[in-house]
Amino acid sequence: MVEVKRVAVLGAGLMGHGIAQVAAQIGKYEVYLRDIEQRFVDNGMNMIRNSLRKFLSKGQITEAELNETLARIHPTTDLKEAVSKADLVIEAIPENIELKKATFREVDMLAPPNAIIASNTSSISITELGSATKRPEKVCGMHFFNPPQLMKLVEVIKGAKTSDETVQTVLDVAHKMQKETVLVKKDCPGFIVNRILIPALNEAVALYWEGVADRDDIDKAIKLGLNWPMGPLMLLDYIGADTTLAIAEVLQRELDPKFHPHPGLKQMVKANLLGRKTGKGFYDWTQK
Ligand code: NAD
Repeated sequence: MVEVKRVAVLGAGLMGHGIAQVAAQIGKYEVYLRDIEQRFVDNGMNMIRNSLRKFLSKGQITEAELNETLARIHPTTDLKEAVSKADLVIEAIPENIELKKATFREVDMLAPPNAIIASNTSSISITELGSATKRPEKVCGMHFFNPPQLMKLVEVIKGAKTSDETVQTVLDVAHKMQKETVLVKKDCPGFIVNRILIPALNEAVALYWEGVADRDDIDKAIKLGLNWPMGPLMLLDYIGADTTLAIAEVLQRELDPKFHPHPGLKQMVKANLLGRKTGKGFYDWTQK
């Protein structure tokens, strides 16, 4: 069984920075955080610093813990530097199958033969990502939720060729990060949570675009009627309209045409109204 000491996180965006932080802060792993350009890496590190400062101001960590966590995270734009000594690579780059497969191919060549390559994908087939490598038994899904610093769940997904040993190692790492896990025994688009969530978000967009109810009433209805902590349109802003669209398209293509994304969601993406990451989506985030 691989003993995981070093973790490489690929992608320093919304999810990658949070995963890197949890790995360093809670899991106490040495973490390499890689993005393709220095400004993205810097942005990820700034988000980590801000999040740690929030924990500090609430008295949940000490100044020493903040500094120790930051010291365990090594930002880089060099893929080789990030993965060449990693025991576990967690990929959190955009939800684009060709991009992910190309990255898996590259990582397979650069990472130690024993290393596990996990994907934080929301919907893409783990089996297909595994097939892009010569180590499909070491490829696994490790799906965190947004924001990874706060959300307790990790879905662990077994691809068609993923070994039980790999699954166990990934479960152990998630538990060391103090996460609750569920095992997705069969690789299936959307896994558990997104198979249920994405159609719900898509229907919220449909209600909004059809003028059935106002934004605030749609969100209020689901908050109070279903006891969600936030409404679906606000949640969509947190996830990102681009990511939501990408997941819906995978579900539509791979599972059933009934999952087709609403034209309104496509328009939001075309208009760059992606949500929090671009400052505007269903809500205006520029003042928050
Ligand atoms: P994001 O757009 O915020 O971040 C992606 C980052 O990856 C960007 O900084 C981009 O520059 C970088 N990147 C692009 N190509 C790269 C490469 N080859 N190597 C390294 N970095 C590269 O996206 P995100 O929301 O963090 O989503 C990342 C993954 O996590 C997706 O697969 C998504 O489906 C999944 N996910 C997202 C959420 C969510 O709520 N947004 C939740 C769970 C899982």
